[in-house]
Order: sequence, then structure tokens, then C-alpha cells
Amino acid sequence: MKTIGLLGGMSWESSVEYYRIINEETRRRLGGTHSARSVMVSVDFHEIEALQHRNEWEAATRAMIDGARAVEAGGADCLVICTNTMHRMADEVQAAVGIPLLHIADATAAAVKAAGITTVALLGTRFTMEHDFYRRRLERHGLEVRVPDAAGRAVVHGVIYNELVRGVVRDSSRDRYLSIIESLVGKGAEGVIAGCTEIELLVTAADVTVPYFPTTRLHAEAAVEWALGR
Ligand code: GLU
Repeated sequence: MKTIGLLGGMSWESSVEYYRIINEETRRRLGGTHSARSVMVSVDFHEIEALQHRNEWEAATRAMIDGARAVEAGGADCLVICTNTMHRMADEVQAAVGIPLLHIADATAAAVKAAGITTVALLGTRFTMEHDFYRRRLERHGLEVRVPDAAGRAVVHGVIYNELVRGVVRDSSRDRYLSIIESLVGKGAEGVIAGCTEIELLVTAADVTVPYFPTTRLHAEAAVEWALGR
């Protein structure tokens, strides 16, 4: 078994899910008292979120590189960045370490394609929905990506930063998300990517009428698959 390296804290509300899913999945596959070998470096999200919202992406990239190097120094065999948004600098981070970065959009695209879907809705932070790093990565896998309109993007982004990363889960916000999702489905989306690692704490597959792709779960499972080398 290889050691999974997690760069987390963005937010810890979803990092704890990574830790839980990785261990549950390892036990499911190996049985008995098996658990995953892992190391985690967890940042102070307050600092990261401030850099994002001030558009200080170079400083944010330096912070991710520092974190990734600490993960590698901790003995990890691979790097899992526990957030979609901070894959914006995935190439720079990969270039700064000697261990492979397991990209969240690759794990997600593989699941979408395995479901036989090509047109998919993407919900996430404003950065993930509006900057092109995430969409381009999905398109490279042959997917067509739809994002909410400007008003919908503002709702999705606001709920992430004002509620989900603070541990607040509201039925009213779930309803708003579901109506945004239904409108994208009405416009041709065949499935929905929960492209922010906290969204699956609010909306589950059971809430949605089309196939649902929760990125925390898919990324964590891909890491276990890699670590067990099957
Ligand atoms: N966890 C979120 C994501 O998956 C947002 C927090 C962040 O900005 O990293 O994008």
C-alpha cells in the first residue's frame, strides 16, 4: 500500500470527508482492520480564502507549493489537493514536487464518462465555474460543460463561502441549488458535477433527478485505487 498525501483544510469540513472516505474505502477493499496510510498537511483556510478573493493567485500558488512540499516531505507517495478551486495552480504545484498529483477533474471526468454522459453541469466556486482551468480539463476528456447563469453562480458561490465552509447546511440553500440544477437539466445537462468539495454535504445523489458526481468522493476513491495499485 502506498501513502496518500492530502493537502487539506480548504475547507476542513470537506477534508474530514476525504479522510473518512479514504479509510472506509480501504477497509471495504482490504477488509479486517485495514486502514489507509496517509499524511495530511492542513492550511488555515482564512488565509487562503483571503488570497482568492483579493485575486492574489501568485501568493496562493506559493502557499499550495509550500503545502505540497510539506506533504512530500512527510513521506507521501502521491498528492491529493482536497479542493477543486485550488487545482487552478495544479500544473505549478506538480512541477514543484517529485510525487504525482492526482487531479480531481480527471477522477471526476472518468466517472462522468463511465456513466455514458457527455454534457454535464458544473457547480462550484465562482473561480471554478468562471476561470477556465477546470472546464478545460474536463473538455480535454471530451465533456461539454454547462455552468449556471450569473445569478445562479452568485448563489452557488455565496452558499459555499458563507455557509458550507463554516459548517452551516440549510434546507433553503439546498432548495436554491436544486432549482439551479433543474434549470441546467432543462437546458440539456445530463448529469451534475458537485465541483466544490463541500457541495456534497448539502446536496446528495438522492436529491437530484440526473446522475450526480460528488468530487470529494470520486477523488478520495481514485486516491485509494492508486494507493492500492490494483
Ligand atoms: N472546497 C472548495 C472547492 O472544492 C472551495 C474552497 C476553496 O476555495 O478551496 O473548490
